[in-house]
Amino acid sequence: KTFEELGLVPELIEACDNLGWKHPSKIQSDAIPHALQGKDLIGLAQTGSGKTGAFALPILQALLKAQHTFFALVLSPTRELAIQIAEQFEALGAIIGVKCAVLVGGVDQVQQSIALGKRPHIVVATPGRLLDHLSNTKGFSLRTIKYLVLDEADRLLNEDFEKSLDEILNAIPRERNTYLFSATMTKKVQKLQRACLRNPVKIEA
Ligand code: AMP
Repeated sequence: KTFEELGLVPELIEACDNLGWKHPSKIQSDAIPHALQGKDLIGLAQTGSGKTGAFALPILQALLKAQHTFFALVLSPTRELAIQIAEQFEALGAIIGVKCAVLVGGVDQVQQSIALGKRPHIVVATPGRLLDHLSNTKGFSLRTIKYLVLDEADRLLNEDFEKSLDEILNAIPRERNTYLFSATMTKKVQKLQRACLRNPVKIEA
């Protein structure tokens, strides 16, 4: 398959081309057409499968139409993964002028508040630091979020994030799309899936 056949717009096909992505990976081929039709996704996939592109491309395509800020929230269990995800959003979204903010621990909060003040389209965060900003950064809320990604959900549920996750989910409107990606399908992940996805399409890398 080609990126075009998945239903992506020319701006994003060009972005993939600029990154040297010649063909969609399996998870991208399987996920993107459903995502573009407005479906929620549950993806069984590891890093290296191209899962970031699988969720970033449909979000960017929706953003291109909607043109609004604080449009998508991506939750990651680690700061390294959060940074990598933001880099892919920025690389794929460069021609459409996408702005990202990364909210992770171990980095100056003031700089992150300034980044939020610039009204990014995409926020990539670890749960703890996101909650810090929700209580401390004036004017920042998740009320306009239309896309939620739970990346490495099994790890999001492992590392004492469970309570934070509950709080975050309560701060995001129900009227949204949710993409959950996980390397393993544990009981906890299934519970999370039932709590926050609607008729998801299951895909595997
Ligand atoms: P991920 O699994 O999302 O962490 O992606 C792993 C690596 O694969 C990243 O460096 C991506 O830039 C790269 N990648 C993602 N999709 C493709 C693709 N369709 N063709 C070639 N490389 C890709």
